[in-house]
Amino acid sequence: MKVAFLGLGNMGLPMALNLIKAGHQVQGFDLAQTQLDAFKAACGIPAQSASEAAIDAEVIISMLPASRHVEALYLGDSGLLATANPRALLIDCSTISPKVSQAVAAAAKAKGFAMIDAPVSGGTAGAQAGTLTFMVGGEAHDVERARPLLEKMGKNIFHAGASGSGQTVKVCNNMLLGIQMLGTSEALRLGIANGMDPKVLSDIMTKSSGRNWVLELYNPCPGVMENVPSSKGYVGGFGVDLMLKDLGLATENASDLEASVPLGELSRKLYEAHSKAGNGQLDFSSVFNLAAD
Ligand code: NAD
Repeated sequence: MKVAFLGLGNMGLPMALNLIKAGHQVQGFDLAQTQLDAFKAACGIPAQSASEAAIDAEVIISMLPASRHVEALYLGDSGLLATANPRALLIDCSTISPKVSQAVAAAAKAKGFAMIDAPVSGGTAGAQAGTLTFMVGGEAHDVERARPLLEKMGKNIFHAGASGSGQTVKVCNNMLLGIQMLGTSEALRLGIANGMDPKVLSDIMTKSSGRNWVLELYNPCPGVMENVPSSKGYVGGFGVDLMLKDLGLATENASDLEASVPLGELSRKLYEAHSKAGNGQLDFSSVFNLAAD
């Protein structure tokens, strides 16, 4: 299958490489030359622009930072809805506002395109291993059309509901993750202040009722786990600014619906303070250091 992959960052690059490994012809584009070079080195076909990558693609996948990047890619006179072939299936895997996601999908539909939202969970390790969870919103037949490709990048493919539902699930999930990371960091810090070995503390809590995804797979305390960002200077992984964006999506969504998310609000403020202190590009587990302040 001819696939255009747009946005070859921490997540997009390994996802695109899994499609290449599965035998698909993947033409990719990223604004950053370093990412394009890495894609080329792994046998991807680099393009000079998003519209060049998409020109004869049967499926177009985007994996961009935020809502505004997705709007800029698809909408407007030079956006993909104006330049790509309407027979192409559009799959947006970025984490963006459910409202924006629905609006872009509606604009796509008006131009004859089928579009689904398919944000992911599982981090860069899941992207590399092809074990991501996809949370998909859109028409059932479009989800089935996408499924064979999504299965090359992920292990769990869930159809959450109508257009935008994938983003709604993702926003709820990441609000919980952001809170969990702060809570786990705080508990580890308290144990360390009591003289506990963080590895012993983590091992016991992992088998107790405080057990959670952060403790099991993404420990924020340096040296407790190998191959996680905390043991690599908090480089790579899922950026503080991306988590801040997701908590902003959650609190904005809650405010639109007059829903109450006090822990989400507090977490957003804490990640914001951490970002303002110059840590925006570090992995989000670096909030472990905020708990020390
Ligand atoms: P990233 O910043 O590493 O990558 C985004 C890439 O998009 C960058 O390389 C950037 O140059 C490129 N880009 C921006 N605008 C572009 C455009 N118009 N055309 C082509 N390329 C463009 O971010 P990431 O970590 O890969 O995350 C991507 C999305 O996935 C975000 O929405 C994030 O919230 C979500 N996400 C990330 C993780 C994670 O662990 N990193 C996990 C789940 C979901």
